[in-house]
Amino acid sequence: MVSIENVIEKIKAYNPKADIELIKKAFAFSGEAHCSQRREEGSPYIYHPLSVADILADMKLDVPTIIAGLLHDTVEDTGTSTVDIREIFGVEVAFLVDALTKLSKVEFQTKEDAQAENFRKMLLAMSKDVRVILIKFADRLHNMRTIEHLSEEKRRRIARETIDIYAPLANRLGIGWLRTEFEDLSFKTLMPALFSELERKVAKRREEQERYISEVKGIVNEKLEAAGIPARIKGRIKHYYGIYQKMVKQKIPFEQVQDVIGLRIITDTVGHCYDILGILHSVWPLVPGRFKDFISLPKSNMYQSLHTTVVGPGGDHVEFQIRSDDMNELAEEGIAAHWRYKEKDSIDKKNTRFISWLRELVKDISDAKEFLEAVKGEVVPETVYVFTPKGDIKELSVGSTAVDFAYAIHTQVGHKCVGAKANGRIVPLRHKLNSGDVVEIITSPSHGPSKDWLKFVVTPRAKARIKQWLKTEERKKSIELGIKLLEDEIKRHGLPLSVLKSEKMEEIIKSFSLMSIEDLYVSVGYGKVSAHQVVNKFMPEKEEGEAAPKVVKPHKEGRSIITIRGIDNIMYHIGRCCFPVPGDSITGFITKGKGVTIHRRDCPNLERLALDNARLIEVEWSQDSDITSTVKLYVEGMDKPGILASVTALISGANVNISHLQAASTHDKRALLEFTLEVKNRNQIVSLVNKISQMDGVLAVRR
Ligand code: MN
Repeated sequence: MVSIENVIEKIKAYNPKADIELIKKAFAFSGEAHCSQRREEGSPYIYHPLSVADILADMKLDVPTIIAGLLHDTVEDTGTSTVDIREIFGVEVAFLVDALTKLSKVEFQTKEDAQAENFRKMLLAMSKDVRVILIKFADRLHNMRTIEHLSEEKRRRIARETIDIYAPLANRLGIGWLRTEFEDLSFKTLMPALFSELERKVAKRREEQERYISEVKGIVNEKLEAAGIPARIKGRIKHYYGIYQKMVKQKIPFEQVQDVIGLRIITDTVGHCYDILGILHSVWPLVPGRFKDFISLPKSNMYQSLHTTVVGPGGDHVEFQIRSDDMNELAEEGIAAHWRYKEKDSIDKKNTRFISWLRELVKDISDAKEFLEAVKGEVVPETVYVFTPKGDIKELSVGSTAVDFAYAIHTQVGHKCVGAKANGRIVPLRHKLNSGDVVEIITSPSHGPSKDWLKFVVTPRAKARIKQWLKTEERKKSIELGIKLLEDEIKRHGLPLSVLKSEKMEEIIKSFSLMSIEDLYVSVGYGKVSAHQVVNKFMPEKEEGEAAPKVVKPHKEGRSIITIRGIDNIMYHIGRCCFPVPGDSITGFITKGKGVTIHRRDCPNLERLALDNARLIEVEWSQDSDITSTVKLYVEGMDKPGILASVTALISGANVNISHLQAASTHDKRALLEFTLEVKNRNQIVSLVNKISQMDGVLAVRR
C-alpha cells in the first residue's frame, strides 16, 4: 500500500523544489478530517486521497494539484470548509477543492440528458482550470482500480459511467494511457468472463509474436546505431477493449482480429525523426497510403508524430510511430503534459492553444447532448487545411464541406450561404473540401439554413448552429400557429380577443405549468395543449364539467390480473413459452410496442432475456382473479389402452376445461400427451400434476 513517503519521493524526483512541508501538512489535515471514515473494504479512508495524490505524482503534476488531490473529499465528506483550506493552503488549492466539491454533487444519472448536462458542467469547470479534471480523473481511476469492493449494482453503474464519459474525455484530452486503463477496467467490470478469456488469448498470441518483434527491433537498432542516431524502441500496451470493439464492429472472432504489430521509436530531435523514417523505408517497402506526417501538420490537440506502415520480414505489416521525447510526452500525457511541473513555466505559458481549443469547443455547442456526442465521436479528427480568399487558414475535420467552412468563418456566413467556389470553380454546398483548397462562400441575405444540410455537415460547430437555427425557426412558426388557433377558438366562443391579455390568462398559463404566454402559444402550436382546452377555462364552471372528456381505459389483452408495482391496467401478454398461471412466481419483460410479456421465473427463455436487464420488470398477480388462464401440461405414459381416457377423465373430474389435446406414441411404446388447459391458479395445476403422476402407467408429468 502506498505511503506518504513514497509519494513525496516521487515528487522530489521530478520537482526538487516542491514544498514538501505543505504536502505533509495537507496529508495530516486530510487524515484528521477523514479520521472516522473507512473505505468499503475496511481500510482507513485516507488511503483513497493518498492514492489519488500518488496517481497525480505519477503524472508529474505541480504541488497545488497534489495537495488538492489529498484534500479533494474533505469538504464534501467532512465538516471542513473551503475557507479553512484557503487560509492554510492558499487560494489556488481552495479553488481546485471547491470546484471538485461542486462537481461531486452532480451525480451522473442514468438518464442521458442529465448525464450530458453534468458532463457539460465538468467541461466548464475544466475550461477554467484543467487541473480540476485531472484530479477528477485520478479520483475515478483509484475508485475503478478498487472497484471489486463495491456491490454489483454500484460496480456496474460506475463502470458504465467511466466507459461512457471518462474514457472518451481522457481520449479527447489526449491522455492515451488513461483512456486505455479506464476502458479496460470498465470492460473487466462489465463483462468479466469475456475479459478474462480475451486476456488469456492475447497473452498466448503475444508469446508467439515476441520472437518476431525482437527480430524487427534488432534490425532497426542495428541500423540506427550504424547511423549514430540515439533512439529507444517500445512496443505498445495491449488495449483489450480496443480488440473487443474490433470484434464487435467487424463481427469476427478474436482469431480473425488483425493484430498489426506496432512499434514506437522515440528519439531526441525532429531531424532524427525524419532520418529514422528514411532508414525504415530503405529497409522495408512502405505500405502505400499509410504514411502520415503529423509533425509538419499536427492534429488539432497538437499531437505530433510520424506514422508509417511497412512490409516487414516475412511479409507481415509493421506499424511505426516515430517521435521526439517532447512529442512523446504530449502524446502520452496529453493535456496533463501542459501542467507538468517545469522549472520556469509560467501559468500563462501553460494556457496554450490546447485550452483555447477546449474553450472553443465548450462555447460552440450549447446543447449538452450534442456536446457529449461531439466528445464521444471521432476522437482527434484528422484535419484538412483550407484557405479563405484572403489567405487565412482554417482547420477542419476530414470530410468537411463548403457549409462547414462557411460556419467556421462566422455563424452568419453559414446561415446565409447559398453557394461556394473552390479554387475558383462553383461547387455544390455539400462538396467535400481538400487540404490546400481556396474556398469562397457566396451568401444571400434572405437565405437560411436547410434541414438537409445536417445530412452532410461534419463539424460539431456547423451541426450545432444549424440545429439551433432550425429550433428557433420552428418555435417562431409554432408561435404564429398557436396564436392563430387560439384566436379562432376565442372568436368561435364569442369572446373578445382581449381575454388573451387578461389576468385570468396568467392563471391559465400556470395551470398548464408553463412560464409565459409565448410558451402557451408554442404548446398550442405544437398541439401539446389544444386551443379548446385553453378557451374552456374562460367558460363558467359547470359547463366545463359537462364538457369534461371521459377517461378511456387503454385496451389490453383480456383482464386485469397482472399489476406492476401496484399499478394495474397495464398492457400485457402471457408468455407462450411457459404459460404462467396465477400463483406462479413471475417476471415481466418489456416487449417493444407490445407492452409487458409475463414469464414464469423458471422459464428457460427468461435466462436469455435477462441479459437485457433494463427491460425486466417486477410484476405480481392481483388479488381478485377468478379468471382462467391457459396452461400446457405434458404427460408421458405407457402406451396401453385406456390411458388417454383415464387421464382425460381425471382432469375433467377436477373441473378443469381441456381446450386442446394432442397425443402421439413413440416406437418404444410410450404415449406422449399434450394438454392445453384452462386453470384458475397455480394450486389447481399443482394438485392436478400430483394426481396424474400417481396414476397407473404414467411415467412423467410436467408443465
Ligand atoms: Mn474521491
